[in-house]
Formats: sequence, C-alpha cells, structure tokens
Amino acid sequence: MKRALIHIDYTNDFVAPEGALTCGEPAQAIEGRIAELTREFIEAGDLVVFAIDLHRKDDPYHPETKLFPPHNLEGTKGRELYGSLQAIYEANRDKPNVIWMDKTRYSAFAGTDLELVLRARGIEELHLVGVCTDICVLHTAVDAYNRGFRIVVHEGAVASFDPAGHEWALRHFRNTLGATVV
Ligand code: ZN
Repeated sequence: MKRALIHIDYTNDFVAPEGALTCGEPAQAIEGRIAELTREFIEAGDLVVFAIDLHRKDDPYHPETKLFPPHNLEGTKGRELYGSLQAIYEANRDKPNVIWMDKTRYSAFAGTDLELVLRARGIEELHLVGVCTDICVLHTAVDAYNRGFRIVVHEGAVASFDPAGHEWALRHFRNTLGATVV
C-alpha cells in the first residue's frame, strides 16, 4: 500500500518556547522522532507533504482571528519549521516526493489540493505527525477518514498543549477513526 507522511504545523510559532501559539515542551520533545520519520519517508521515496498553517495579520474574514493571537504569519520566522526540521526541508525541497502545502484551516484537506495530490499518486495510507494532536492533527484525521484513507498516527510524533485533549484525541483516532496509533 502506498503511503505518505503528512506533516502538520511543526513550526516555530506552534513549537518554540517563544512561539506565538506554542504547544510548549511536549511539542519540543518530539523533534527527534519527527526528524527521524521525515528522513525515513524521504529516503524511501514516499511522499512527504508539509501542510503548514498560513495566516495574514488581522484578517477580518478568518474565523481564527477571534480565537487565537496572530500566528504563522506569511513570511515570518514563526512560520518556519522548528529546529532541525527546517534544514531537513530545505535540503530536500527540490525532490519530487517533497511538497510544501499552505493551509489556512485546521485540516490539511480544507481548501488545499491535498486529496488530488494523494489520489494522483495512488496513495491510500496517511501517516500523521505534528501539532496539535487535538486540533489540526485531529481535523486532518477526520477528513482523511471521511475520504477513505487508512490512517496511522505516530504517538511519539504528535503533541498538544493540552494533555487531556492529547489523550482524548489518541483514543478518538483509535476507537472512532479506526486509525493505527504506533
Ligand atoms: Zn491557524
């Protein structure tokens, strides 16, 4: 079965100590595992999609403007990948199996051509990593489920600022979306 790694929002704003909307230490602690999986998928020739939140400051039409402080603003350091991931991305960005995909909602499927990209390549199994487990990873998993993809969530490569939300989402992936949590 063809597989893809879907990388969700592992940026400075969501992970770094000074990030605008940081998940904090739990997110920083998964850097090694995310880096390892990213290298593994790229080297195996499997598709790696960096599905990364994109905002414009004070956008009056965006629902998150009322919910969260400004984050992942276009062209800022906050929107670059955290730690070693930015260098891994830059070293591999020209490979045909590495794609950067701007997203503007929680789900990587909302308003993007992610489904078309996956279908065109015959990919049936999505491996999810990144943050937050119970927000953007969750919404992406729900959309993947509704589109009939098999889902694998890497427990050591997802994190949240909310431990209860993190645990709830892991149970939801397993029990309600039929995901494999590894
Ligand atoms: Zn956002």
